[in-house]
Amino acid sequence: MSDFRYAAHGVPPYGPFNNWHLPYEDLKYKIEHEPWSLYIPPYRCAPHIWNVAGFVDTCSYLLDTGEGLILIEAPCFNSLYLEFESIRQIGYDPHDIKWIFLTHDHGDHYGSARAIKEYTGAKIYLSRADREEYEQQRDSGTLRESPYGHHTFEVDACYDDTNPLTIGRFTFNFSFCPYHSPASTVFRFEDTDDETGVTYKIALHGGLGVYTEDMLKQKGYPVEWKQKFIDFATDAATWDVDITLASHENQTNFHSGANFENPSDYSGFVDKTVWGNLMNSKKRDVILDRQGIDPKTGKTIVYERDGKW
Ligand SMILES: [Zn+2]
Ligand SMILES: [Zn+2]
Repeated sequence: MSDFRYAAHGVPPYGPFNNWHLPYEDLKYKIEHEPWSLYIPPYRCAPHIWNVAGFVDTCSYLLDTGEGLILIEAPCFNSLYLEFESIRQIGYDPHDIKWIFLTHDHGDHYGSARAIKEYTGAKIYLSRADREEYEQQRDSGTLRESPYGHHTFEVDACYDDTNPLTIGRFTFNFSFCPYHSPASTVFRFEDTDDETGVTYKIALHGGLGVYTEDMLKQKGYPVEWKQKFIDFATDAATWDVDITLASHENQTNFHSGANFENPSDYSGFVDKTVWGNLMNSKKRDVILDRQGIDPKTGKTIVYERDGKW
């Protein structure tokens, strides 16, 4: 990591990346016109996992399986050159990406999936229900316009929640949570540090954005999916998780775990309290939203950022 430096892109404009966020319109402008201003350097967040998004909002995790690379999330086409540079900077070759795991069928998670697939030949994974929604929208020309990238793609495989998937050192258990998308995928797996021998339990919930009931109806989703989310979060909050990966940085102020002086130091991400707090806080948001109340301000909710999360 000796060649790690901010200098390649200048000092990031946002200083420490804690509590980072921008209003959606500002983010959209920057994605479209100056993706370099959204750059964040790569950092390690678990023994064999790095956030390599090169993009400060949606995360993108590179997993070294020992038998090729997995990329979880492919957020932003305009930032792809920064993502590839991030991968090279930590000593990997983007050509070695063999699998692209998407948490759900929203553009801010798959904006660069097609380009990466074309570059690497990687297989794209999605849940079956999200695949059906995506293909229906793609084939009927009704996909939402997205600043994250508009290149359509074929899904190569679907997760199976009854059958763990082993790739190299990782064995993934999948669960599906309908609400934010027809079946947002939740990943659970373990990662062992080769130097210390310590094994960490890791989890990632891909679909945590809260909708109003009107938004659910607009999407054609059953209102009962709110209860499904609440039930899922109630159960998941009891899971024993050492390292919580965020699909968006603002879910857990994820970048605050990074050590930008020594980006291979992932100790800032080891915290058993994060997962339960995240599940409980999202459950609370969803419950309160039924009353149209913003849990943060106590005021009536006005959503302007549909699709952002
Ligand atoms: Zn989403
Ligand atoms: Zn999102």
